[in-house]
Amino acid sequence: MGMINGKTKLVGLLGQPVNHSLSPAIHNAALQEMGINWCYVALPCKKENLQPALKTLRDFDCKGLNITIPHKNSIVPLCAEVNLIAKRIGAVNTLIPHQNGGWKGLNTDIEGFLAPLKTTDWEDKEAVIIGCGGSARAVFAGLEKLKLSKITIVGRKESSINQFLTDLEIFSDSFLTSKRSITGLLQDEDLALIERLKTTNLVVNTTPIGMQSSGDKRSSPELAMPLGQEIWSNLHSNTLLYDLIYTPRPTPWLNWGRNQGMKTIDGLEMLIQQGAASLRLWTGKHEIPIDVMREKAKNCLKI
Ligand code: NAP
Repeated sequence: MGMINGKTKLVGLLGQPVNHSLSPAIHNAALQEMGINWCYVALPCKKENLQPALKTLRDFDCKGLNITIPHKNSIVPLCAEVNLIAKRIGAVNTLIPHQNGGWKGLNTDIEGFLAPLKTTDWEDKEAVIIGCGGSARAVFAGLEKLKLSKITIVGRKESSINQFLTDLEIFSDSFLTSKRSITGLLQDEDLALIERLKTTNLVVNTTPIGMQSSGDKRSSPELAMPLGQEIWSNLHSNTLLYDLIYTPRPTPWLNWGRNQGMKTIDGLEMLIQQGAASLRLWTGKHEIPIDVMREKAKNCLKI
């Protein structure tokens, strides 16, 4: 980081906890490379302190904020304005100062998720999303942009799947007029699931299964695969496996895929690209030193 002086401006991350976040390291590396006299700080914040923190940070001329667990949803009503896509998925991860005071909420997770998929034409292809929580909403919104013909959302609880479909207005009139097929499936509907996996071109894991210290009972290395072990033999070898997790790299699921000769993507690039997209919004600069951010992240993860 460059010298902090009287002209240094603040950017930062609000969440709880924030002490393991890679964001300060990757953002400060980028800011230094760009010669911008800002400092990015992780700010632990309880839910009840969010509103006063937002006001104070705006008063201090804070240039931008990232929002992380557990505030991505609860921040929405606290924004002066929320852009359409963030409103639709009910999650904000980036704030920029609003011209009339307060903050404008946006979501760069969608752009971050999509970045590594951009080199392929996905039109009329099929995808399966495992999990239907917060990040699955950003993943779905991203996949919608790729004009896939079929998207299947797989969850472990009917209530979560229904909530997901309702929140994203998948039953709305505008959806019914589109040609795409979007289905929610329970993970124990084996036959239907196998049929989907046989033809899918892309599978995205949005559950924490396989994550280091996820606390999941199934996180012993040989068992920590979403949907268990056997079902994956139904994939064809051209399927792309995309796991949002980046610790460990690779996850047991991606490791299995690599051993089968499949293409795989882990969550590190999404993390870096969502950060780069936030920096673009805050600085107004298009060119962001993504390589510097990537190297910094890998250094921090010791890989
Ligand atoms: P979340 O909102 O809690 O959603 C997790 C989803 O996984 C829920 O649908 C949950 O099911 C399901 N799930 C959890 N444990 C499960 C299990 N044992 N079996 C089956 N399903 C299970 O979490 P999130 O914010 O979406 O984050 C999910 C993962 O994505 C985390 O590992 C996170 O680190 C990663 N992530 C990475 C990035 C990145 O930039 N790379 C960004 C965001 C998130 P229920 O609905 O039934 O509870």
